[in-house]
Amino acid sequence: MSKGTPSFGKKGRSYTHIRCPRCGRHSYNAAKGYCAACGYGRSKRMRRYSWMNKKVNRVRLR
Ligand SMILES: [Zn+2]
Repeated sequence: MSKGTPSFGKKGRSYTHIRCPRCGRHSYNAAKGYCAACGYGRSKRMRRYSWMNKKVNRVRLR
């Protein structure tokens, strides 16, 4: 698959990510059943790393 204009034709063909119930972001993978942003469905704890400055639902995590 190439990048750029030719691959934009694939847009709108079914969805991979839906709205996440926990963080509200459009990052919940419907097929895999977890959120790419917060790890909902994968772990009980928030998916976060030391190198990231993360905000969830507009509240900064410490
Ligand atoms: Zn999430």
